[in-house]
Amino acid sequence: MPMIPVKEAMKGVAIAEPEVKEHDVDLLIVGGGMGACGTAFEAVRWGDKHGLKMMLCDKAALERSGAVAQGLSAINTYLGKNTADDYVRMVRTDLMGLVREDLIFDVGRHVDDSVHLFEEWGLPCWIKDENGHNMNGAAAKAAGKSLRNGDDPVRSGRWQIMINGESYKCIVAEAAKNALGEDRIMERIFIVKLLLDKNTPNRVAGAVGFNLRANEVHIFKANAIMVAAGGAVNVYRPRSTGEGMGRAWYPV
Ligand SMILES: Cc1cc2nc3c(=O)[nH]c(=O)nc-3n(C[C@H](O)[C@H](O)[C@H](O)COP(=O)(O)OP(=O)(O)OC[C@H]3O[C@@H](n4cnc5c(N)ncnc54)[C@H](O)[C@@H]3O)c2cc1C
Repeated sequence: MPMIPVKEAMKGVAIAEPEVKEHDVDLLIVGGGMGACGTAFEAVRWGDKHGLKMMLCDKAALERSGAVAQGLSAINTYLGKNTADDYVRMVRTDLMGLVREDLIFDVGRHVDDSVHLFEEWGLPCWIKDENGHNMNGAAAKAAGKSLRNGDDPVRSGRWQIMINGESYKCIVAEAAKNALGEDRIMERIFIVKLLLDKNTPNRVAGAVGFNLRANEVHIFKANAIMVAAGGAVNVYRPRSTGEGMGRAWYPV
């Protein structure tokens, strides 16, 4: 005899009358992934000397949040001996010309600096030895080899380089935490809505979120907001299909 579904009582805790907390900042960074951690590191460098107030809100825990949480074995783009023009050409061909070449050129000319920072913060990168053999990140470190010295990376394909990246996100999160300090990071805050400016149409002036662990609603007013909550790559449609859909990180 088929089971007849029974209407169950609602599970979970009923939340009523949350505590409302307001924050006023110059820069609000929404998200705590690779984009947000990089933004935080740079924002502190440029903003602290002007006394700018900043806050980073991640819905999860910074050390293991976002798509890099589980660790990665490679970094998709490192120019090395390629030029930024080569990079633009590759992306343009890959995406049949539907690209912003100026933005791609900018990514191309800066990407190696970011990778060098990751290495400086502790990310072990694979390097070729004098005989052209592969050294994994640990061996390369022990031999005093490094991308920052201009040593050749181990590649898989023309653009990708290999890393010992199981702690990739922890390493990048640590750099963001060191830059911002604990007081400018809020974890477990889930932003659900951006707020428009009362006087200027189409200007975002704030955000609202709630605490995933406490009965709190947070309202942020901000002069500038960087939303780096992930998931944006599939706004674009690459010409590749199936697993190759992942190539969508190129379009910028
Ligand atoms: C399976 C997989 C394998 C990959 N492999 C590689 C690789 O080998 N090499 C490589 O270079 N790249 C790789 N990538 C791509 C790389 O991981 C992404 O390009 C990169 O993580 C994107 O960074 P991001 O900051 O935009 O997003 P994410 O790093 O995903 O961060 C998103 C952040 O936003 C937070 N967030 C989301 N919603 C909210 C909200 N409402 N309020 C507050 N916070 C929120 C999340 O908690 C998280 O901290 C891979 C991606 C995937 C999924």
